[in-house]
Amino acid sequence: KSVVAIVGRPNVGKSTIFNRLVGERISIVEDTPGVTRDRIYADAEWLNHSFNLIDTGGIDLSDEPLLVQVREQAEVAINEADVIIFLVNGRDGITGADEEVAKLLFKSNKPVILAVNKVDNFEMHELLYEFYSLGMGQPFPISGTHGLGLGDMLDEVVKHFPTDREDDLDEERIYFSLIGRPNVGKSSLVNAMLGEERVIVSDMAGTTKDAIDTSFSRDDWDFTIIDTAGMRKRGKIYENTEKYSQLRALKAIERSSVVLVVIDADTGIIEQDKKIAGYAHEAGKAIVIVVNKWDTVEKEQDSMKKFEQEVRKHFQFLSYAPVVFLSAMTKKRIHTLLPEVIRAAENHSKRVQTNLLNEVIEDSLAINPAPSIKGQKLKILYATQVSIKPPTFVVFVNDPTLMHFTYERFLENRIREAFGFDGTPIKIFARRRN
Ligand code: GDP
Repeated sequence: KSVVAIVGRPNVGKSTIFNRLVGERISIVEDTPGVTRDRIYADAEWLNHSFNLIDTGGIDLSDEPLLVQVREQAEVAINEADVIIFLVNGRDGITGADEEVAKLLFKSNKPVILAVNKVDNFEMHELLYEFYSLGMGQPFPISGTHGLGLGDMLDEVVKHFPTDREDDLDEERIYFSLIGRPNVGKSSLVNAMLGEERVIVSDMAGTTKDAIDTSFSRDDWDFTIIDTAGMRKRGKIYENTEKYSQLRALKAIERSSVVLVVIDADTGIIEQDKKIAGYAHEAGKAIVIVVNKWDTVEKEQDSMKKFEQEVRKHFQFLSYAPVVFLSAMTKKRIHTLLPEVIRAAENHSKRVQTNLLNEVIEDSLAINPAPSIKGQKLKILYATQVSIKPPTFVVFVNDPTLMHFTYERFLENRIREAFGFDGTPIKIFARRRN
């Protein structure tokens, strides 16, 4: 995860900005001097980047002289952060302490975004000019108390994030993992997919505690199964490490594009299955639901359809995920799995054309006009896809608070239907644009 630090001399509004970015008031802003704030470190999210945010102002150095304070705080930011938000106060102009911070940041060679706070309206933009002289490039006008300008500033911040590990991976290759509670048949399924020979190799490798990757090719596709330790071999050693299995599953999910959520047709769906599936969904991964041990089910009319209804009822949040029925033991229907994995992976990294996207938005507006809240009407200006894995869209609107979640859901469904996003979650963000 990337780390972003906010630095600046005291009273430029660091904690106000910090709280705004984190989305809740978690650090105490007090007028009383010497109040130690309870948190200076928090998770924040922008578009589909999640990052850690540090408020260096929360490090209590109030007994120190001003210049020592700002130096210490800049030091922390330089050591810890990938990107630094350098905050100044637009109403005060440049002070000596600002220049001191600028000097240290300049030497660090870290990406620095200069944010000018307390620019509460457009008329105040002329305050920005003098800040060019800090040598930090274009200053971003923001208002912590009014929550203005933060989006444009964050757009710039995330541009400087070091490339995620995922991007370094082979783009063509499909990385997937299998998750599910013990005994649903994950290891049997891996073995069934890979064939006998591989199992021997994996058994030896299975004694290490970290994830084991197994690569194979089928038709024109390259796959890597990200395995979690103990998946294929069981014994005392793994029982002892059971408490780490959740952590390992999370790590495997993180490195995957597609996650196979394996459930057991024999025992049916239980609460734990839902929890496990929830991890993959929240991570924004493509998902295929695999109903294993289908051989144990007495076949009657529509038994597959009935079981699928059961799956849909329990995994409502996975409405986009296809369901595959198979038996790892008899290998029946096992050939239906990889095509679904491929389809989900393709949709997960699909980009749609902006003009087509906006046609879909226009059609949607015609069918179901945007809602009004308290006499204020939501206006949608245009939409654009900002990233993939999962496909993420920004809809520019007059006022994001007017975007009701039911309307957002409606737009999501329209986009899904129009472009075919089976197997992958998609994300939509409403952003203000006047
Ligand atoms: P894991 O803990 O999820 O990796 O589960 P395993 O692959 O070790 O399987 C647990 C048990 O279920 C083993 O006894 C397997 O033989 C059995 N099993 C796995 N797949 C199937 C299947 O498709 N049908 C039946 N009847 N049993 C299965």
